[in-house]
Amino acid sequence: MKMMTNAKKTNKQKEETKKRSSITAKWVSVMAATITVSFVIFSVGIYLLLRQQLIAQNEQMSNEIVSTFQKRLEEIPTNFRTSNVVPKLSPNTRKILAGEGSLNTNDEVNIFNDSILATLSNKETTVTLYNPQKEVVFTNSKTTVPKLKTLKSAHVQNLVHTGHGLELDVYQKVYSRDNKRLVGYIAVKNTMVQTNHVLKTIRVSMIIFSLIVIVIFMGLTFVVISSWAKPVKRISELARKIDKDPNSEERLPKLKRTDELGELTDSFNEMLDRMQAYIRQQKQFVGDVSHELRTPVAVIQGHMNMLNRWGKDDPKILQESIDASLQEANRMNHLIQEMLDLTRAEQIDVQFPNEVSDVNSVLERTVNNLRMIHPDFKIIYDDADLKSNTKIKMYQNHLEQVLIILMDNAIKYSQDRKEIIVDASTERETVEISVQDFGEGIALEEQQMIFNRFYRVDKARTREKGGNGLGLSIAQKLVEGYHGKISVTSQLGSGSIFKIEFPLLKSGSEDEKSE
Ligand code: ADP
Repeated sequence: MKMMTNAKKTNKQKEETKKRSSITAKWVSVMAATITVSFVIFSVGIYLLLRQQLIAQNEQMSNEIVSTFQKRLEEIPTNFRTSNVVPKLSPNTRKILAGEGSLNTNDEVNIFNDSILATLSNKETTVTLYNPQKEVVFTNSKTTVPKLKTLKSAHVQNLVHTGHGLELDVYQKVYSRDNKRLVGYIAVKNTMVQTNHVLKTIRVSMIIFSLIVIVIFMGLTFVVISSWAKPVKRISELARKIDKDPNSEERLPKLKRTDELGELTDSFNEMLDRMQAYIRQQKQFVGDVSHELRTPVAVIQGHMNMLNRWGKDDPKILQESIDASLQEANRMNHLIQEMLDLTRAEQIDVQFPNEVSDVNSVLERTVNNLRMIHPDFKIIYDDADLKSNTKIKMYQNHLEQVLIILMDNAIKYSQDRKEIIVDASTERETVEISVQDFGEGIALEEQQMIFNRFYRVDKARTREKGGNGLGLSIAQKLVEGYHGKISVTSQLGSGSIFKIEFPLLKSGSEDEKSE
């Protein structure tokens, strides 16, 4: 049965591992897709721009050829024929046709004719001349020339996609310069071999380059994402370990990075520390409480057993046992009330965020109450340095509770000299209240411990006085809950001074009124 659950568990863990690793894969694929898309957009953009540029160059070239031919051929007044066209293109051609020598002495004509000859001998460009009946009268094309289609305007330019790439066809109607008659057509076909080759090279290089970049980026992304996923993986592994053994002292190794992951690791460790301290505190609290309750319960149980066995017949013993049990029951009641107070004192911020106390009136009221309850004590209240209308951010019942705890202790632990001095003064930014007694005092090594829960200097004697060792813990929690401070100065045999301090409520108008 146990083996089965174990098997189930490992399966579950495997599933979880699968899920985790798929997150890395997901990230890498998202990054790869993003990079690919961006690269493709970028490459296509650049490619289209270059293509546009090269086409424009070819267009310019073809149009220049067309206009060069047009200028020469416009001089012909009649329909194009091989015999009137060829001499216009080159005197050399004419001479070759007529069987004459090929030299011409006119330089100007030579330059012009040379450019036409150069065009005619260019492999990329073929020039075809048609008569108005669209019959070919001249061509330098080595392949068959297509039939001329009807032209919508005098100048037509077509970019054609062929099996070999792009091709640019330019058509021009030629009108005689003299009589304005349509004498023929010029068709210039540019196969753009060079351009197609350049574009193909760019395409291939861009694909190869993009593939290389995508692979490199994917590798980098994998490395980066893995380095991010590693601490997260460690955190979840540790969380699982702590889940099994909440007392484990294991922590995440400190990361050298200062980014969010470093912060996450630090705060995770801090959270574990706090959580475990809280668990320890809770355990200690339960232990302390059960220990504290054990004595009164044992006392009541002892009395009841005694009465059960023989005591109930003796009215004196019966009365004594009832009194003792009642006293213990009262003590338990008091203890439970104090434990509740302590728990509440730990949640002040949430429950009383905006309460304000008037220090003067709370102090006066509390001192007067104590005077009434303990008429045998001389309670001196010195408020000479307390400005009127001194206010602090605190629920007034809590201020009263702290004062009662301190004055009650002062009375409880006083000896022969039954005198208590309560002093209050308003400082620049704080209000200070001290409660002084002239009783037994507290040894230096005990002074910090008395604020711990259930700590009593002399257990037996304090118990007699009805103390549970919770009063000062409650007072400390309350004071610190309102951002105040509590401290003690004491000398064994001479007495103690407990001092509390709170930040003044910042309200200009109130301060001015009191001055
Ligand atoms: P308790 O309810 O037992 O008085 P406290 O938390 O108020 O618990 O006090 C803790 C211990 O500190 C007391 O048991 C006592 O020993 C010591 N103590 C507190 N106040 C005084 C005081 N004014 N003079 C001497 N000892 C004091």
